Amino acid sequence: MDLETIASRFGWSDEEVRARNSICEIGKICYQRGLISASDGNISVRLSDDTVIITPAGGMKGFMQLEQLTRIDLAGNLVDGRGKNSTETGIHLVCYQERPDIRAVLHCHPPHAVALSVAEIDMQMPIIPEMVVTIGGIPTTPFATPGTHELGDSIREVVRCSDTLVMRNHGSVTVGGNLLDAFKKLDMLEHTARILWLAHTVKGGLEPLSDEAVRKLLDTRQQLGLGGRNTLENRCGLQGS
Ligand SMILES: [Zn+2]
Repeated sequence: MDLETIASRFGWSDEEVRARNSICEIGKICYQRGLISASDGNISVRLSDDTVIITPAGGMKGFMQLEQLTRIDLAGNLVDGRGKNSTETGIHLVCYQERPDIRAVLHCHPPHAVALSVAEIDMQMPIIPEMVVTIGGIPTTPFATPGTHELGDSIREVVRCSDTLVMRNHGSVTVGGNLLDAFKKLDMLEHTARILWLAHTVKGGLEPLSDEAVRKLLDTRQQLGLGGRNTLENRCGLQGS
């Protein structure tokens, strides 16, 4: 069945069909790339009427069908759709509450980034120039129990000033103006984690870039007019902030 037929069958708007389709596509890519396994992770998109399309509890995100996704309001109540929305819906609601500027939230379990948080290796440290220019440091939030209200509350402060973060011993949260944007940040986050992991295996205690180098990179970022919230720029969670 094509998208148009499915949309008219369920009475979805074009915007809703596009949102549902992008969630299924990105879920597939995250699964194939090993950024989630089994029924890990959850994905959402906020529509222009401030309702949210989100993956269901327990479903395998690499094999989602459009009609399996649920639509909720910003208080987490089901607007339509059968089934139950994600057990980690709280993460998404907190992101949308704190960030009126974003339209998509992606929570995954990228193995290298999570491993670094387990090993207490800081991803906030500026080491990779590309990261400083694009998304800045990657803060790690304190451990909170998945499936409880604690989890959403544990990221509230940090998501105000960062488009990317790692929840200690658990997974990543990336946000963006659309789902592809949130995925791009996840891709960069895990790629950086892999580089840091490799570097740590041959030499512990990595040195950050100099303050001077970081300043020049942030100047470049400003000249390029890049959007998003960069923790090296707003000093969120950094010493002296
Ligand atoms: Zn999770």
